[in-house]
Amino acid sequence: MKYDVSHPEIREGVTKLCAEFDGRYWQECDRENAYPTKFVQALTQAGYLSALIPEEYDGLGLPLSAGAAILEEIHRSGGNAAACHAQMYTMGTVLRHGNDAQKQAYLPKIASGELRLQAFGVTEPTSGTDTTALRTTARREGDNYIVNGQKIWTSRAEYSDLMLLLARTTPREECAKKTDGLSVFLVDMREVRGTSLTIRPIRTMMNHSTTELFFDDMPIPASSLVGEEGKGFRYILSGMNAERMLIAAECIGDAKWFIEKASDYACDRSIFERPIGQNQGIQFPIAKSYAQMRAAELMVSQSLRLYEAGGNPGEEANIAKLLAADASWAAAEACLQTFGGFGFAEEYDVERKYRETRLYQIAPISTNLILSYIAEHILDMPRSY
Ligand SMILES: Cc1cc2nc3c(=O)[nH]c(=O)nc-3n(C[C@H](O)[C@H](O)[C@H](O)COP(=O)(O)OP(=O)(O)OC[C@H]3O[C@@H](n4cnc5c(N)ncnc54)[C@H](O)[C@@H]3O)c2cc1C
Repeated sequence: MKYDVSHPEIREGVTKLCAEFDGRYWQECDRENAYPTKFVQALTQAGYLSALIPEEYDGLGLPLSAGAAILEEIHRSGGNAAACHAQMYTMGTVLRHGNDAQKQAYLPKIASGELRLQAFGVTEPTSGTDTTALRTTARREGDNYIVNGQKIWTSRAEYSDLMLLLARTTPREECAKKTDGLSVFLVDMREVRGTSLTIRPIRTMMNHSTTELFFDDMPIPASSLVGEEGKGFRYILSGMNAERMLIAAECIGDAKWFIEKASDYACDRSIFERPIGQNQGIQFPIAKSYAQMRAAELMVSQSLRLYEAGGNPGEEANIAKLLAADASWAAAEACLQTFGGFGFAEEYDVERKYRETRLYQIAPISTNLILSYIAEHILDMPRSY
């Protein structure tokens, strides 16, 4: 294997960069519901957001494990990579299925930061987890496709130039399989924003810059189609394992942050004339979440190794995401409990990270759906939906 999946030098660089964006920075963004523009700019300038873009397109040309190391360290430092992580996993779809003209036109500009590819429009209000039931359509008309419909939870759309969009190009009833007839488009939102594309922010329990989108006869050039028409669902699926591993790495970072905060505080805080960390009621939940985190971390490394050896490890990637999300949530619970009342105060960052890490039980894939995957695809039990 060419790389050590742990990437110590990258971790050191990211940690250094993150030290310039302390708890006060993230608290302010959270309070104002503001996009962390300065942080994303700093990451872009340092080249970290181009980590997975090949060198021929001016990126760093690093493997997926480097992306995972970057995201983990952002979270371990107390930050949140949600503002920019999509660029890492949407990139793969363009790289694998885009044509040369698309790659030449977009990838070098994404690598330099001139263009941002942060929006991923898949989920719709009525289809939710059942992606193939989505209703947004793209109809071919001459040199254009005309898009109509609605997306929800399209995060970062206001802070992105490009969006990877999944839409139906052939009605479901005319397709042999419900997974057919869906297509992926690389949409340049600068051309249509404010006219045929309306973006409405959604306020959420944590600062996530998520939005809903409305397409009203939105014209996009036919050249925005990625790969072949009708094969989009497969293209999106082909990037899912990488997405699971990257998100799992963020969860590991969160778990490490909570565990360090909790154990430090447990040693420092003295009640009844002894540190609260001397009580097993405080120690054990922290120790247990540490054990959960280490097990999940091994599964993340294993999935990355298999992926980088040329495999597409669905089992390992899904289990890594499940275990890592559970570990980060267990660590969040232990940390909040350890901090007692102070855990609720903004200045300690615990309540903010607690809200942020809860998301991983639901998005980008819910815990239930991973359990369904394991039951059906690994254990050969009947499909439940
Ligand atoms: C903050 C945030 C950011 C997001 N960002 C994006 C984004 O950038 N792009 C994008 O496309 N999407 C995004 N999403 C959407 C996210 O991927 C979905 O919320 C998620 O996939 C679940 O879909 P849903 O919310 O419609 O839930 P539903 O599908 O309505 O499910 C509701 C609950 O029922 C459970 N459930 C449903 N079906 C089954 C079943 N068969 N068996 C067992 N349980 C089941 C689910 O697990 C879930 O707990 C984001 C969501 C949030 C909250």
